[in-house]
Amino acid sequence: MSESFADKVLNWFDAHGRKHLPWQQEVTPYKVWVSEIMLQQTQVTTVIPYFERFMKAFPTVTALADANQDDVLHLWTGLGYYARARNLHKAAQKIRDEHDGEFPDTLDEVMALPGVGRSTAGAVLSLSLKQSHPILDGNVKRVLARYYAIEGWPGVKSIENKLWEVAEAHTPEARCHHYTQAMMDLGAMVCTRGKPDCDHCPLQQGCLAYAQGRQADFPGKKPKKALPVKKTLMVVPCFQRNVYLAQRPSSGLWGGLYGFIECDSEQAGRDTLKSIGVDEIQWQPLSPFRHTFSHFHLDIEPVLAIASEPPSGRIQEGNARWFDIDNTIEVGLAAPTKKIIKQVTQVL
Ligand code: SF4
Repeated sequence: MSESFADKVLNWFDAHGRKHLPWQQEVTPYKVWVSEIMLQQTQVTTVIPYFERFMKAFPTVTALADANQDDVLHLWTGLGYYARARNLHKAAQKIRDEHDGEFPDTLDEVMALPGVGRSTAGAVLSLSLKQSHPILDGNVKRVLARYYAIEGWPGVKSIENKLWEVAEAHTPEARCHHYTQAMMDLGAMVCTRGKPDCDHCPLQQGCLAYAQGRQADFPGKKPKKALPVKKTLMVVPCFQRNVYLAQRPSSGLWGGLYGFIECDSEQAGRDTLKSIGVDEIQWQPLSPFRHTFSHFHLDIEPVLAIASEPPSGRIQEGNARWFDIDNTIEVGLAAPTKKIIKQVTQVL
């Protein structure tokens, strides 16, 4: 009898799959969940040090639930897509409050956690509790779209449904945890986006994209739209080697992170500075740069507002305060804020 799809994948996993990742040691649903959330849109090698620091700071789901949001976002600084960290924190609180701190063990309950979709829930339960559930993350979508030469962009519901159908059809009951890991590894290590290594792929025989020499056509690309460009002036109040950062509202762009004053004119910037007690200012432009989000470009014009006197008003107001740039800033910062602080340390 010829080997099934799952058998081929499992045999490949036994020989080549990843078995030494930090979240694969003394496996718990909590560890696997944190790793899965970090791994969304992010490579394994980038995630490892973040995962290790996170586990050291928050060794249990209750420790994460009880943590301060600033500390959670701080440990996420640099990983991007901060909604993931906020949802992780909220989900931990839900687990603490509604599940007595025990990670839930049914697909529906895990999918009810903030920030957890069907694929992540399936992966967590499969990898940590050996349950059998299909997954469909970016890597698996690529492997299956190529294997079956499924045309169209997986962001379209009907295409995604087709992919779920084939994902479900191949998911085995036995050794599903190895199969899940194997499919992710195959996508990351063999059936890669740019250069699939079909000669070392256990699925070569039967792969339609390979047979047709059309690997680059699958999965179908998202129809291109030119991204709109927005502009912002970022005013960086500073006195000696301290900069003033304010926390942003918890939802929306860079929610919960600390950033500089955003405004559309120098006058508006001056008015805000007055309100925090910074009167006499010398302006010094920093280097402008572009930050690109998935849905727009943001052209950022940073400008230093150097105060000649110590701020006369309150230096602490709500979630805003002065930070010494020579010390580690232990709150969550978005990538552009970090970039600007680096410029400030070079010019001050
Ligand atoms: S044969 Fe090539 S295209 Fe097909 S699944 Fe394997 S690596 Fe991907």
